[in-house]
Amino acid sequence: MSGSALLAKFIMQYLPSCSCGNEEDIGVTKESLPTKENDSTRRAVSINEFFTMSEMQYMGRWADEVRVIFDGTLPPSMHGKSMLENGVPIALVNPAAPDPKYVIIHEIMHHHMDNLGCPSLLVSVVEEPPESSWLRAVSFKVFTNGILVQLWELIQHSRFNVMCGPESARDRQYIRYMEQGKLHSYGLEKTGNTQARNLDIAVHLAVIWMEGSDDVKQRVIDFILRTYKDGSDILRLGESIVCCIQPEDVDFFCMDKNEARRVFSDMVKEMEKILRIIDTKMHVYVGDIAVMFSSQPLDVNMLNQAGNV
Ligand SMILES: [Zn+2]
Repeated sequence: MSGSALLAKFIMQYLPSCSCGNEEDIGVTKESLPTKENDSTRRAVSINEFFTMSEMQYMGRWADEVRVIFDGTLPPSMHGKSMLENGVPIALVNPAAPDPKYVIIHEIMHHHMDNLGCPSLLVSVVEEPPESSWLRAVSFKVFTNGILVQLWELIQHSRFNVMCGPESARDRQYIRYMEQGKLHSYGLEKTGNTQARNLDIAVHLAVIWMEGSDDVKQRVIDFILRTYKDGSDILRLGESIVCCIQPEDVDFFCMDKNEARRVFSDMVKEMEKILRIIDTKMHVYVGDIAVMFSSQPLDVNMLNQAGNV
């Protein structure tokens, strides 16, 4: 890693929300989603319709507390979203999602992880990216709201996917992209910078690699090799992103906060590894997870003196 500029620090910010499935437009935010209860595109459904009594017992308090809302305004590729409304945990479900039961349990897992203290991602550029960095060509907001959010989601999912089984949702999403002849962009494609564009596509590969079936994963690999002239570089980058993530079959429902903290700490380290391999030509500093729980703001000077940054 060359250069002395500091790319990023992670600190805890309690901003519970998840956008599961990719967002078609980077502009879709929690704030842009409908909130009116009487909106005809929104319909509250009972969780009993989807789960057996023993499944609901397993979910504990969430079975009683989560409000499940089918929301017809979610973009086609966003299967669901977890959010809080006036303190009430909401699982928004796209009525067109292929497997609503999967989406509901997925959103409940996000709520539960948030409750255990899962850090939200906060990444900042502390110094200007150097001339040699592709990040110069990219709006930092687009970079963080697009691929970084997606990667952090992927890391979170790697801790509960074994239980939820995401294949049906991801497969349909990627089959649709291939039918359209194009993977949607996380916003880096239009920069015209090849490295940024390759990263955009490599993140897709990581997503389908980790959350799709073997069959569709292979079809996406063939699609990338066929569509992009530097397809094999993209495959290598996608593979190295996947190698940074170590899925773990953990049972968050039976986990205390200390054990959860160990899991979250491992997840943050994986994000750090990914930030190092995407070749921004900048140093990456990831704050200790303990810092995340401090009410004191991080001191940038302290970060610069931290040595191994
Ligand atoms: Zn998710």
